[in-house]
Amino acid sequence: MSRLQVAVVGASGRMGRMLIEVIAGDERAELVAAVDRAPHARGRDAGELAGCGALQVEIESEVAAAIARADVVIDFSLPQATSAVAEACRVHATPLVLGTTGLGEAEQAALAELAERVPLVQAANYSTGVTLLTVLVEQAARAIGSHSDIEIIEAHHRHKVDAPSGTALRLGEAVAAVLERDLKQCAVYGREGHTGVRAHETIGFATLRAGDIVGEHTVLFAGDGERLELTHKASSRTTFAAGAVRAAHWVVGQPAGRYDMRDVLGLSTAPSL
Ligand code: NAD
Repeated sequence: MSRLQVAVVGASGRMGRMLIEVIAGDERAELVAAVDRAPHARGRDAGELAGCGALQVEIESEVAAAIARADVVIDFSLPQATSAVAEACRVHATPLVLGTTGLGEAEQAALAELAERVPLVQAANYSTGVTLLTVLVEQAARAIGSHSDIEIIEAHHRHKVDAPSGTALRLGEAVAAVLERDLKQCAVYGREGHTGVRAHETIGFATLRAGDIVGEHTVLFAGDGERLELTHKASSRTTFAAGAVRAAHWVVGQPAGRYDMRDVLGLSTAPSL
């Protein structure tokens, strides 16, 4: 059985190291390249840096050469890397599993172009639980969304640099789509001072940043006399890394296009209420 040859971008970061550990423990996959721009990581063995023993894969700084050697790329780095990764994947027709959040329009456009040529999985959250949460939130929005006040609350560790989290935004987009609202018009990001009463159509976001919280998301539907809260709590980054490696196995051999974790988990046609 040939093993899936994987390149990891962002290899010395929190997620990159976790991905390398999961790949090292997967007998159907093999790390063949590890890319990171951090000067302290360059030239070091990716497995040693990840704490899972030497893998004879040195961390390098240029994506193009690394991607040329791989069957699939997993990128959890920063938006500054996305366009170069997408371009290298396009040139080499290499499928991509992208976890980086906080992307701008230029990066999204590069991904759209890539998806015309190769399969690409993009998810703001690779955990099975959050993928299911999104399905449940859509069902709740369908059933009670139009007569509820909807708020999305998220909490992450102190090192996270973007807010609200990509997952919170995707949950907001999912609710807005069901209710035929435009999130750009109805989102309220934090409140302060004399805000006036809550406008019913709004979807509110609240962000906490503290300590080592891995990631928590609650979608709250509040009406008169009751409220429903749907919550997911991640307690380890392993859940994201395992989901991304699962996506890497799945995406190779798919037709060109843009996919998410629902496709990977076979939940794209989840029954609605
Ligand atoms: P981190 O800061 O620990 O790691 C990012 C790594 O990327 C660093 O080592 C950095 O040196 C490297 N990097 C930066 N620019 C680069 C470039 N141009 N080329 C190569 N490497 C580069 O961050 P993290 O906590 O590991 O998170 C990484 C990303 O993954 C963030 O966008 C985060 O929001 C996202 N994330 C997504 C999920 C998910 O399930 N989709 C889960 C957790 C984190």
